[in-house]
This record gives sequence, C-alpha cells and structure tokens, in this order.
Amino acid sequence: MAQQEDVFKKIVSHCKEYGFVFPSSDIYDGLGAVYDYGQNGVELKNNIKQYWWQSMVLLHQNIVGIDAAIFMHPTTWKASGHVDAFNDPLIDNRDSKKRYRADVLIEDQIAKYDEKIEKEVSKARKRFGDSFDEVMFCSTNQRVLDIKAKRDALHERYAQAMNAGDLNELRQIILDEEIVCPISGTRNWTEVRQFNLMFKTEVGSTAEGASTIYLRPETAQGIFVNYLNVQKTGRMKLPFGIAQIGKAFRNEIVARQFIFRMREFEQMEMQFFVKPGTELEWFQKWKQTRMAWHQALGFGAENYRFHDHDKLAHYANAATDIEFHMPFGFKEVEGIHSRTNFDLSQHAKYSGKKIEYFDPDTNESYTPYVIETSIGVDRMFLSVMCHSFEEEQLPGGETRTVLHLPAALAPVKLAVFPLTKKDGLPEKAQEIINDLRFHFNCKYEEKDQIGKRYRRMDAIGTPYCVTVDPQTLQDNTVTLRDRDTMEQRRVNISELRGIIEDQVSITSLLKKLL
Ligand code: ATP
Repeated sequence: MAQQEDVFKKIVSHCKEYGFVFPSSDIYDGLGAVYDYGQNGVELKNNIKQYWWQSMVLLHQNIVGIDAAIFMHPTTWKASGHVDAFNDPLIDNRDSKKRYRADVLIEDQIAKYDEKIEKEVSKARKRFGDSFDEVMFCSTNQRVLDIKAKRDALHERYAQAMNAGDLNELRQIILDEEIVCPISGTRNWTEVRQFNLMFKTEVGSTAEGASTIYLRPETAQGIFVNYLNVQKTGRMKLPFGIAQIGKAFRNEIVARQFIFRMREFEQMEMQFFVKPGTELEWFQKWKQTRMAWHQALGFGAENYRFHDHDKLAHYANAATDIEFHMPFGFKEVEGIHSRTNFDLSQHAKYSGKKIEYFDPDTNESYTPYVIETSIGVDRMFLSVMCHSFEEEQLPGGETRTVLHLPAALAPVKLAVFPLTKKDGLPEKAQEIINDLRFHFNCKYEEKDQIGKRYRRMDAIGTPYCVTVDPQTLQDNTVTLRDRDTMEQRRVNISELRGIIEDQVSITSLLKKLL
C-alpha cells in the first residue's frame, strides 16, 4: 500500500514536471482542489474528450451534442432537487481539525474488511497452490466467514442510514466501528452535519436587483432544459440522446487525491431519452457500451469493475459506477443512472411548460424516461496517467520513465530530431514536420544528445521519434524509433505518414467499438 502511495506521488510530480497538470495559481501556492492543465495535459485532455464525443455523436445516428451555458435560471436547481438535497454528510475531528465525509469514512472501513478477506484468500492460494478452490475456501473458512459477516452487517447498517438520511446513525457507526482520524489517530468526532456543495454567486449589479445564481454542479440539467428545443428542431424520434462536455463546480469538503476530486472539473454527460418501460433494457445496453469504450484503451479488463449502488437517489431505479483500479484502490470514474422521468417532470412542474414526447407510432404523448452516462474528464485523465506511468528497468541497470499512453491519446505523436544542428539536417527535419503536421501533432527538438531527447519524449508518452542523419540527405531514409519497444528501423520519409497516422488517430480507437 505504502508503495502504491509512493507511485501516486511520483505520478503527481511527473504531471507537474512535464507540463501536464499544475496547481492553480501556482505562484500564490495554489488553490485547494483546483488545477490547471499545461501544454501536454491540454492535448491529452482534448484527445480524451474527442474520443468520447466521437464515440457518442459520430457513432450514433440518434445522438446529438449541445453546449449549454454554465449559468442557469435559479429555478433549475430548485426543480432538480439540488438546492434542497445536494448535500454531503460531513464530520470533523476535534483534535486534527480535519473535516471528512462521513459516508467516505464508512465506505473506507468496508473496503478494509474487503482487503482483509482478500489477504486471507491470497495467503491460502499460496499455501494450496493449483488445487486451491476460492469459492469453497470463502464459504468454509471460519476467519473469512467472520470478517464477511461483520462487513455485511456494516454494509447493511450503512445503506439503511444513508437511505433514511439519519445523520446520528452515521456518527454512531463511525464510533461503533472505532474509526480513527488518519491524521490525529483519535476518535474525537463532532456531530455529522449536512453541507450543500453548490457554489453561489450573483447576477445583476446592485444588491437589490441582483439575484442569486449557482455555478452548475453537473452538466445534465443543461440537457434537460433543452430537451424540447433539441427534440423539436432536430426532429428527433425516441430513443435519442443528447451529449455535452462542460465544466461543473462542487464545493467538495474533502479535497485530496489530486485531480480525482476537484472543486472545478469537467464532465462528459449523455442523457438518453427512451420510452417508459424500456429503460432497464437501455440501462443494460449503456453499461456494456460504456465499459467497451473504457476497455478499448487496452488497460486490461481486470482493472475495471461495476459497482452497483446501494443507495439509489430517490428518482433513480437503477444505478452503477464504472470503477478503475487506481493506485489508491478501485475508484469511480463514471456513473450510469436510470433516472426515470424525474428531471423532465420536475422541470415541467416548475416551468409550467408541457415537456413530453408525441409518439407517432402509438399516437400518445408521454414524458420520456432517461438513462444517463456521466464521466469526469479529469478522473479519466488520472486513470490514463496512472495506468501509463512506468519506471522501467532497462538492461544494463539504467531506468527510464515512460508513459505508455494509448497512441491515440498521446499529446505529441511524432518527434523529429536532426542528429546535429548543422549540414542541413535541421532544415530536412523541419521539412518532414511541415509535411506531416497537417495529419498529426509533431514536435521538433534539436537540443541535447539523441538519447536524452528520446527520454524526454518517453516521459510525455510520444509514440514515435524520427532521427534525421547525414544518410537522410543521400537516400531520404530516417530512423524511426518506437516508444514501447525502443526498437529502431530505417524507413523512407515517404512511408512515415502511412505507418504513423493509423496508429495515432482517434479513429483507430473508435473502430474497436464497432
Ligand atoms: P463521488 O461519489 O466520487 O463524489 P459522484 O457519485 O458524486 O462522485 P456523479 O455526480 O455521479 O459523481 O458525477 C459523475 C462523474 O463526474 C463522476 O463519476 C466523476 O468522474 C466526476 N466527478 C464528480 N465529482 C467530481 C469532482 N469533484 N472532481 C472530479 N470529478 C468529479
């Protein structure tokens, strides 16, 4: 575990050192849980967004995009329930003065029981070798059964407390489980209180004329309030979807873990409108479609899992998370929710407008049901970084830091180096770039020895490097070097585009989805 934390720290500093992610307003020592993306980060982030956008809007005839404003009429958030209920239960430790989410403390405790069981299983697996039967072991081993009974009882009690919104019971669970503050190590806890996560501001210039508005805590409501506009102007027939990428803001209580939990972040959300009664079928379909999108990146199926929700929001009739194996455990990257007709009905009620769909097949009007897929760009970015980062031991005792980014997501696709700064080599290198830059992102580098230049490109995940040497001037060939295998081969300049373009395009990923 300590080793994993170490790796995570290295990833955070790598992000800063190589221009991926900086603390916001860094010269003023940063602002809690707010980050800026640097010259390489913005490229990677844009590629992630493009992969998502195209998988939705290009690959589905019945999904269109919008870009709604961040500011919305304040009644939106009354109707959606956010003003009254977008709360987190928070608890303070009196000794460390640190604030925590009560639900997260308890969920971490449940995860600890799971880890204990996993430890017993792996010990037994070692002991029994090939003959080990995990299902049999877990259903008969007394120690495992005891831990599992405790875990399940806690889980049940927690789910009930959350569903009932019982803050005293949440506190009692923390006391009964003897959960301590990770900083002070004590159990000196305050009461549990609800805390609304929305940021407020004012529009209008004078105090009298001004009215309170919110920074949107999710992009979804911008889609719901535009349902009629898009359905009518796009003459959309059910089932159809509306996709959107944009900023969202939450005044998160616990702001740790780098870009995993930010106060300003970006979401990629798609609301899929369906006929009532078909929503659970579509929920299953979208679960599979979204999982396939993640797995097409090639990080290994074992690093993903679904986590079905215990506490369904009052409007949902099914919900799951896609979790990814981060260095700090399996964590939510995306939520998929069956939201019934709650949002559209609420907006109809609060706006006084009829928000329905006229079904030409059955000649009836009804309020569509909605399946939502909601993924955080920044969390996705973090998962890509975590999985790609490697400190690789090379033969001969050397190590190199390399980002094995999927080529389609890499910020720079090709780096072109003149072997030396003279004899027309820089000009030749520039010529190659001038030709290829229309097709993918190329970078020119002439400083330092070739070995060092390779290392710098490995560190930002550039899949290909090309070196121009005196032989190039004679026969138009260059050395092409592969980031992962580090193999070099001689190819003709005219072949470069054909070799590289397919590998580095978003299309190569999209094709895996069909
Ligand atoms: P969590 O339980 O981790 O707070 P959530 O269940 O509230 O997340 P949703 O409201 O379902 O999250 O939001 C959908 C997605 O938006 C999440 O899966 C996550 O990727 C992203 N997201 C939510 N909050 C944040 C945040 N504070 N920082 C970065 N990404 C976030």
